[in-house]
Amino acid sequence: MSISPKRPRIATVWLGGCAGCHMSFLDLDERLFDLAALADVVYSPIADVKEYPENVDIALVEGAVANEDNLELIHRIRERTRILVALGDCGIHGNVTALRNPLGSPAPALRRAYVAGADTNPGIPNESLPALLDQVRPIHEVVPVDAFLPGCPPPADLIHYAVGELLAGRRPDLSGRLKFG
Ligand code: SF4
Repeated sequence: MSISPKRPRIATVWLGGCAGCHMSFLDLDERLFDLAALADVVYSPIADVKEYPENVDIALVEGAVANEDNLELIHRIRERTRILVALGDCGIHGNVTALRNPLGSPAPALRRAYVAGADTNPGIPNESLPALLDQVRPIHEVVPVDAFLPGCPPPADLIHYAVGELLAGRRPDLSGRLKFG
């Protein structure tokens, strides 16, 4: 696993997930300062960057591929990133985000959430929102993934270890560290 010889560029991405994996990333607490000393965070939901940049060394991607925006973005990420890491169980196997898959399409869940199960029946939102895919897909089913960090969410210590190894040019050895859920 190689990263650029200059100052490494890191991205964190939020696809179809609950943001819990990013909360775990923020749980690095003061270790975030150590990370900032080693690398630049060039794209993240916690930074005001609109376009996924070129030449990203490491991308931590939370969530599954659930809508058309997720689909377009994950392809762009793959094109522009050396090491793509699936961060958390949703990105790895669908997990919570994919619970609707057995229903065959998003329509029953949308009806339940916005019509049948809602007190005020606001109607199903359909403007300015990306269309949901019929089936939620884990990241590796859409693009190649270089590393997987399981957990719901992955513990901050695991994220810290894995990012440190990747920045050192090593593949993280997760034996004895794996925990789904
Ligand atoms: S893996 Fe868990 S914490 Fe992470 S986005 Fe999915 S549901 Fe949320």
